[in-house]
Parts: sequence; C-alpha cells; structure tokens
Amino acid sequence: MKKSSISQITNQVELQQNQSTLLFKGFKLILILIITTLPVIYSPAQVIKPLFFYTLSIPNPTTHIYHIELHTSGWSKDTVQFKMPRWMPGYYQIMDYSNDVNNIFAKNDQGRDIPLKRINKNTWEITGIKSKSFDLVYDIKTSRQFVANSYIDSNHAYLIPANTFLYVDGFLDTPVSVKIINNPSWNKIATGLEMVKGKTNEFTASDFDILYDCPILIGNLEELSSFKVNGIEHRFIGYNIGTFDRTNFINKLKLIVKSAVDIIGDIPYNQYTFIAIGPGRGGIEHLNNTTISFDGSQLNSEEEMNKMMNFLAHEYFHHFNVKRIRPFEVGPFDYDKGSKTNLLWVSEGLSVYYEYLIVKRAGLINNRIFFEDFERNINTVENNPGRLYQSLTQASYNTWKDGPFGKQGEERGKSISYYEKGPIIGLLLDFAIRNATQNEKTLDNVMQYLYWEYYKKKQRGFTDAEFQQTCEIIAGVSLTSLFEYVYTAKEIDYNTYLNFGGLKLDLKLNDTDSAKQKKKYTLNRISNPNSLQLTILNSWLGEQY
Ligand SMILES: [Zn+2]
Repeated sequence: MKKSSISQITNQVELQQNQSTLLFKGFKLILILIITTLPVIYSPAQVIKPLFFYTLSIPNPTTHIYHIELHTSGWSKDTVQFKMPRWMPGYYQIMDYSNDVNNIFAKNDQGRDIPLKRINKNTWEITGIKSKSFDLVYDIKTSRQFVANSYIDSNHAYLIPANTFLYVDGFLDTPVSVKIINNPSWNKIATGLEMVKGKTNEFTASDFDILYDCPILIGNLEELSSFKVNGIEHRFIGYNIGTFDRTNFINKLKLIVKSAVDIIGDIPYNQYTFIAIGPGRGGIEHLNNTTISFDGSQLNSEEEMNKMMNFLAHEYFHHFNVKRIRPFEVGPFDYDKGSKTNLLWVSEGLSVYYEYLIVKRAGLINNRIFFEDFERNINTVENNPGRLYQSLTQASYNTWKDGPFGKQGEERGKSISYYEKGPIIGLLLDFAIRNATQNEKTLDNVMQYLYWEYYKKKQRGFTDAEFQQTCEIIAGVSLTSLFEYVYTAKEIDYNTYLNFGGLKLDLKLNDTDSAKQKKKYTLNRISNPNSLQLTILNSWLGEQY
C-alpha cells in the first residue's frame, strides 16, 4: 500500500507530539533536553522519524498464515536492519518469533525487488534505501495455539505484535500505523491499539513498545456488557467464550476491578479491555488490556469460578504491578536479548499475593478458601527440595533458562517458582509492616509508594535495593532478616511472621514412613491473640474474624 510520504510523515510527527507514552516519558524528556542544548546545525528536519505503515491481511485463514506489508520511508541511512523481536514482555521466555517469517522480500516504489539479506536468525538487512520509500513484504505462519504467540484458524485470529511487526534498532520510539484488512466473515477486532478517527480498521501506536503491548483478536467476537469503575469504562470481549451466566460473571468482575483499583487509588488508562482468546492456559498483561485464555463453560462450578476470578484479578492487577510499578530492567525492553531482572518475584509473586487479597476484599470468597490459597503455596514450597537450592532472586533471573516452571528433567527439584514462594513473602512482608507500624501501614502502602514515586514521579523502574528500601521506609524498621528469604535459600520461619497477625501453621505428615513423608500445613488462628494481633488479622481479612 502506498501513501504520500510527506503528508504521512507530517501526520506522524503530529501524532508523536499529541500522544505521550507514560512509560518512557523520562527518557524522552532527557532526549529533548539534549537536542535543545546541541548547536543549531540540528534542524527540526533531522528529528523527523521514518514512516512505519503496516498493512496486515488474512486472505486464507485455513492455511494458518497471515500476510504483512510494511510501507516505510524517510531513512537517512542507506543500509537498515529490520529485526523480529525474540520475546514478548509478560512472557519471559525466548520465543524466536523470526522462525515464523516466510516469503520475505522488499520492493521499491516501482514494484521492483530490492536485495534483502538475512544476516542472522532474526535480522534482515536492506541496502540502497536512503531517502526512498519501499515495501517489506512477508508472511507469518502460525502453528501453536498459545497466549504468547500468534495463532490463526478458520474461525479467528489472535495476533501477537512482537510475533508480527519488524522493528529497527534505535527507532523503537517511532510512531507506527497498522491497517487491518479484515476477513469478511469476521465481525470484530479487539485490541488496545488506538483507532484512527475516520478510518476503518486503522490503528496507531505512539511507539513500538505500545504496539508490542497491544495484541489483536479478530473473529466473530462477543462483547459482554461493559461497566464503569470510578467513571472509567471496562470491557470484556471474547472469542468462543462458552455458555455461562454472563450477568453474574460481569458483576463479579466489576467487584474485582474495584477491589484492585482501591489498592493503588488511581486508574491510569482511559479504557480497559479483557480480551478472551478462547479455551487454553495463561494470560498476558498489558497497559490497557489483558489477553486471557477463557472457557466460560467451566464456570458453573463454584471452584472453577473462584479460580477464574483469581486469574482475572492477577492479570488485571498486573497493569499496576509490572506494567507501571516495574523493576528497573523491565523497560525499555530489549527485544533481542530479553530483559532479565531479579525482581520477577515482586512482579509475579506479589501479583499472586494481591490476586488472593483482591478476591477476598471483593467479598467473593470466605476466610477458609482465602487461607487455602496460601496453604497451597506453602505446601508446594515446603515439599520442593529446590527451596534449599535457589533463592527468589535467582529464580527470577534464571527463568529465561530454567523455563516458566523452573528446572525440569534431571535438574527437577533444584529450583523454585516465584509464583509459589513470592506470595508467601508477600504475606510475611505485609504482616511485618503491619506489626512494625501498629497496623497503620501495610504492603498496600509499599505498592502505592512505588506507583507514585517511581512510575509517576521518577518515571522509571526500581532497583532491588530500592524495593527493600521502600518496604523499610513504610515499615520504619530494618527488614534485613525477612529479605534473607528473598536473596538466599534460607528456610522460612513462618510462625514468627504469621503470629503478628494472630495466625500459625500446623503441620501434619501424611505418611509414617519418613522417606515418603509429604508435609501438609494448614493455616489457623492462634488461641488468645492480643489486641494488636487481632487488629492486624481483622484489618487484613477486611472483616471481624
Ligand atoms: Zn502474572
């Protein structure tokens, strides 16, 4: 597709001025300051960015293939390397999306081929394009139905932008346009991308980080009744969502969103969309949306409904914790190497802790079910020999090589999961802070501080030391001994911390044969709690126990 490059560039510059990416505003500010202090030889023309206009079509969904045409121009260099990301933020594994690229070629304005060279697995180099406009054309072949990669079949298309759109190093902050040629038999497109006013199925992103943060779901989709929390609209759109009581489900989801928003006290988006991609496993968080595997037909049992609410609370809370309240390394992203951090136990583990709290505070479960959430994690950790080998920080950093569920095969039992131990540390931290402050402060205050101080004010992520420092500022005491359970594989002394909130663990062994013994802990109240213990417990539960 061809467009007048001059008018398109003008539009793009306006777009860039009008849209702000909250995430990396700080970097942009620094850039602007540097530019304004340079000599005048840097005229405004030199900061005009290249044009990226993508057209995506799905001419034959039964082949599981979709087609991409990138129309680009405005390059001041003669040779440019286009790259496919190797992973997507939210799923911390190398996916090598370039394996799915087929039939790639480049052509100039006259439709003639321009030589294109693949210089490594995910990089294509093109020469002779200075000040010229040209098209890069390729297919993406999909094969696996999964939340972290694109998948197309005859009924729907789930498109992961990092699995779809090539970028150029040094130009990730360039605005991007995407036009989707929809299959005529499909009725809807769901995405967090901003629609271009007056155009059909045309979207924009202020930069590639925003583009890669907005998956696209296309098909005959069903949208449930939207709801407002603090005046902001929340939508639920899905493919093949199944048979269930939609009103009951949306009522519960609204309580979840309200309960999560109350933790931070701010809604940082204009609209939020839950995008249900069909039955399967897993979900991935984004700034103004989440994609979730979803099968409503399962929701008729109370247990399954509770699991679903935990899952939705977790994915939703991530728009705070990891998308905005984030580790230093998790943005701007390194799409080539991955963005490794010691702090996934905060981003993921504390999101599990908060999923439990959000559902409890929403009034959807009783105390017993709430306690069982923690018992599951404690029993998994305590029956895994890996707890003596790997710390939470190591598990966070090593997930890229250990895999999402820790080491497998012969090395099984040598690693832990931050999804299991993380929420336990969340609980201990919360109780330690409440105890040190006579229940005046809680872990919520830590999350609020990180949000306002690092995301809003400093506009960057926090380091390992800054996370501990924030907890200690809120607690008003040193938490060094508690953080040993984060940095080392030291065995956890649960009861010291649980007692702060009038709770304790009771242990039962399920077998008299010591070699086969599996530990089974239950979480219970202590008898005769003092008034602070009772205050903490009641405040934590949000009700008189
Ligand atoms: Zn998560």
